[in-house]
Amino acid sequence: MEPIPAAAQDDIIRAGRRLDQRGWVPATAGNISVRFENTRIAITRSGGHKGFLAPGSIIEVGADGTCLTPGARPSAETLLHCQIYRHFPEAGAVLHGHSIAGTVLSMIEPTAAISFTGYELFKAFVPQRTHDTSLALPLFPNDQDMPRLAACIAPHLHTMPLGYYIRGHGSYVWATDMDAAIARFEALEFLLDCELQRRRLAPLTHQETPR
Ligand SMILES: [Zn+2]
Repeated sequence: MEPIPAAAQDDIIRAGRRLDQRGWVPATAGNISVRFENTRIAITRSGGHKGFLAPGSIIEVGADGTCLTPGARPSAETLLHCQIYRHFPEAGAVLHGHSIAGTVLSMIEPTAAISFTGYELFKAFVPQRTHDTSLALPLFPNDQDMPRLAACIAPHLHTMPLGYYIRGHGSYVWATDMDAAIARFEALEFLLDCELQRRRLAPLTHQETPR
């Protein structure tokens, strides 16, 4: 088997450092993948800290998630990466992280999606061109059974301008290449942070002005 090209490994290693710097992949959380040469998928192996990735931390899997690197064990969530690559032929990178803001919001949100309205940063989600709209982040119940979770997500994949979130767990974000995926991931985390702070302040702004 041809080795994973250095460019694909570098993409994953620098994404891991960036997400770690921002506190979005605590402990062994998260996983990171790229699709290269149109059909091949490189992904972080199971476990391990995403802030300290080395070329040996990255393995190759087939389109159905089967491990192609001898003796390696892919993360169970590899299936969710493969599902995104299958559904979006233009996707070149997928990021999954566990942030505090997203974890908290996804656990307290009573509806099936977190809705964001009026944020300038919507424009990070190409082809979105205006702030003057509402965008939804669909929420799915957490499940350790990946095929069942993938089946739950599948019918909604065509309506996800921001990516999606697994409740109490983490986000999935993708784009044409790693730079674009990092930008989208950061933009989504900005929205989640803002939304959490806005909801914290909401009870205060509704209080009567003290006399
Ligand atoms: Zn996870």
